[in-house]
Amino acid sequence: PLNCGIVGLPNVGKSTIFNALTSAKAQAANYPFCTIDPNTGVVTVPDERLAKISALIKPDSLVPTTMEFIDIAGLVEGASKGEGLGNQFLGHIRATDAVCHVVRCFDDAEVIHVAGGVNPLHDIDIINTELLLADLDTVEKRFTKVERSAKATADQKIKAEHATLQKLLAVLNAGKPARTADLTDEERLIARDLFLITMKPQLYVANVDEAGLTDGNAYTKLVEDRAKEEGAQVVSICGALESEIALLEPSERDEFLADMGLKEPGLNRLIHSAYRLLDLITYFTAGVQEVRAWTIKRGTKAPGAAGVIHSDFEKGFIKADCYASDDLFLYGSEQAVKEKGLLRSEGKEYIVKDGDILFFKFNV
Ligand code: GDP
Repeated sequence: PLNCGIVGLPNVGKSTIFNALTSAKAQAANYPFCTIDPNTGVVTVPDERLAKISALIKPDSLVPTTMEFIDIAGLVEGASKGEGLGNQFLGHIRATDAVCHVVRCFDDAEVIHVAGGVNPLHDIDIINTELLLADLDTVEKRFTKVERSAKATADQKIKAEHATLQKLLAVLNAGKPARTADLTDEERLIARDLFLITMKPQLYVANVDEAGLTDGNAYTKLVEDRAKEEGAQVVSICGALESEIALLEPSERDEFLADMGLKEPGLNRLIHSAYRLLDLITYFTAGVQEVRAWTIKRGTKAPGAAGVIHSDFEKGFIKADCYASDDLFLYGSEQAVKEKGLLRSEGKEYIVKDGDILFFKFNV
């Protein structure tokens, strides 16, 4: 499954947020919670549609879809030069699909700030610089190798890689993340093999105190402005509060949230933002035994979506009967959706949409 790495300076609240994500009570109720290793957590993706579909279809069980978060601690200034356990941590980030960058936006004299004082932009620059330097190192090393062979060959592949590396070097040397490089599709494929960190989509998580939760604070304004410049998203959450909410039973939790004037835990917003950042969407299978949510990358065709359930479904794919969950909510039953002519039969080329309810027909 695709995953999201949580990075940030020490003491900004990464572990607090990660622990809240992976210990939330709703987790245990709906899904056999599993920890892959202490720093990797599987999180259920909250989706109101699942309960709404179940209310109409009344299955024996409902199964949410999940995504993975990885707590990547220990990134400090100088990591790209091997400070601390720098290289090891950078290696972990390299293996993720997207990056959640936690920024401290709360004052608390008791919590030491590693860079001397709360200053979100300074913090962002430290982390982003380390990530950029790590990429620069990767690209420079590769460039040195390729440049030598590029001179001695007419091989188009090597020439193409040479050109790609040159573009990446120009962007990184200008202090800009690799994702801003203007690459052709072919160059993008070449660049993918480098596993550059700054090529991954990034999301800022402003860790605020309770007072800053609804309207933000002076720090979050700075983060938002910066994110806007970069075309990135910001999610504000209060790590301390989330870790309390995560420990409540679902019924207590709703009451607690209502008291605080909140609609849902901030973690839900974080999970949804990370899901979007990874460009993921959800489709459903809905039978009397089980209603279940499945995750696919946006743009996946019907056979690929079937393959998420089982590779045999993809291999033997014939067609998918399909309707929109919104139509089910609108008309109240599968039968009514059918009568309205909204149940379609889709073939191999159908691009699955978020919220689709699918029934696969396949050969075994
Ligand atoms: P990490 O090093 O980034 O993983 O940071 P931790 O999650 O270990 O948090 C560092 C310290 O900040 C701990 O003492 C937390 O209790 C505290 N902390 C985390 N989030 C918040 C918050 O939202 N508000 C306040 N006041 N303290 C927080």
